[in-house]
Amino acid sequence: ARPIIAIVGRPNVGKSTIFNRVIGERLAIVEDKPGVTRDRLYGIGSWLDREFSVVDTGGIEIEGEDQILRSVRLQAELAIEEADVIIFMVDAKAGVTPADDEVAQMLFRAKKPVVLAVNKVDNLQRQDDIYEFYSLGFGDPIGISGSHGLGIGDLMDVVIGHL
Ligand code: GDP
Ligand code: MG
Repeated sequence: ARPIIAIVGRPNVGKSTIFNRVIGERLAIVEDKPGVTRDRLYGIGSWLDREFSVVDTGGIEIEGEDQILRSVRLQAELAIEEADVIIFMVDAKAGVTPADDEVAQMLFRAKKPVVLAVNKVDNLQRQDDIYEFYSLGFGDPIGISGSHGLGIGDLMDVVIGHL
């Protein structure tokens, strides 16, 4: 079986944008479960001759109160359960938010490698914005830009190193 890379993070940080870049055209499965909307997007990708499955956990959404916090909790649970490596994605423009802290708390308990990706680092000026994310406790944050296609190779080098 292919190793599984899960992308986790609160809504709007750019998970789906990165997912699409990493898998190219090869979208494999869209799974629906009744009740809580637990649509997971699975794709197949490869980097440096390693083939892997990628899960965009952002399809998990819950209606109602505390929707964002509950959604990210479920995403993190799913990733902790089934991933071999977790990409924890945050947003350089937004900075560290309470939902990011929530995800961090959960991922600490996972005995899985976590790679911290700071998305929306669209230019060199914004590179300074990654430092505050050291506070999340996952080591060196990797600045990327999904919309500009920057840093994705560096990110995948680190991710593949954990497989
Ligand atoms: P998700 O909710 O985490 O899956 O996030 P999306 O991939 O749907 O992206 C959320 C928003 O952020 C969209 O408007 C994207 O166009 C935007 N976005 C994604 N990546 C980048 C980036 O690298 N830079 C900037 N400036 N915007 C981005
Ligand atoms: Mg999404």
